[in-house]
Amino acid sequence: MNISRRRLLSSAAAGFAGAALAPRMAWAATDITLGDMQITTLSDGYLTQPADFMFAPMPQDELAAYLETKGMARDAQLTPECNVTLVRHEDRVILFDAGSGTTFMPTVGDLPDAMSALGVDPGEVTHVVFTHCHADHLWGVLDDFDEPVFTNAQHMMGQVEFDYWADPATVDTIAEDRVPMAVGAKRRLDMIGEQMSFFGDGEEILPGVAARATFGHSPGHMSFELRAGGSSVMVVGDAILNDHVAFAHPDWPIGADSDHEAAAQVRKGLLDQLAHDQMTMIGFHLPNGGIGRVERQGDAFAFVPA
Ligand SMILES: [Zn+2]
Repeated sequence: MNISRRRLLSSAAAGFAGAALAPRMAWAATDITLGDMQITTLSDGYLTQPADFMFAPMPQDELAAYLETKGMARDAQLTPECNVTLVRHEDRVILFDAGSGTTFMPTVGDLPDAMSALGVDPGEVTHVVFTHCHADHLWGVLDDFDEPVFTNAQHMMGQVEFDYWADPATVDTIAEDRVPMAVGAKRRLDMIGEQMSFFGDGEEILPGVAARATFGHSPGHMSFELRAGGSSVMVVGDAILNDHVAFAHPDWPIGADSDHEAAAQVRKGLLDQLAHDQMTMIGFHLPNGGIGRVERQGDAFAFVPA
């Protein structure tokens, strides 16, 4: 595994709305190679979230002590990166997740620009493989006119994840603040239905791409192990959601996870394996393009950006 290039092109708009926000990148891409797979993470922008979205269910005294060691404010807005993984392998152009599109929030939706800067046309994408159906991963499948963006791509999704969001009952049973997410997911799944296929845990869904059930962040969240020769890269999606509490206190419940307990079990299992194998990982919301590895620190872990 080699990091071959890193490109950053910061936008001219240094004063992007709200000076407190990180400078907006026009697009950013980081490349690694694994055997004859060329892997690139592309920035779709970054989310802006209230801190409670992550921190609300955690033990607050311990959280305050931890955040102090990190120099993080308890109530500061969180601005995690969004990194979509593009894999070019033989005659395939594979996207892992589709980004947010333009209707979710103003700080995301950069994926088309990032692809264009890389010289990849959406029509060239052969497969879009989803980790899960939250807005920042799914809504980019449709353009401003509600037309599919990746017109020639097979859209591949874990069966459990699809069944949950495609179920008309989900909008009535999901937490109230998540109803817009559920309505948005179902509408998009309905519209791309004919392009979709489904898979389960452990399946080799494409040559060198194995699916792994990592349920918890969402009911059917999937991760993917890219394999070439004896080496692997794990695309973890949102199963490891941030580079702070998720690593330092993997037991703690994270507000953004739909099943706190299942997500924590999955997170610990992944961290343990990634640290043990020193496997390169790609996290959708991790910093510096999301690529790095896991280091064990006693009972806890740390993210080491590549
Ligand atoms: Zn996400």
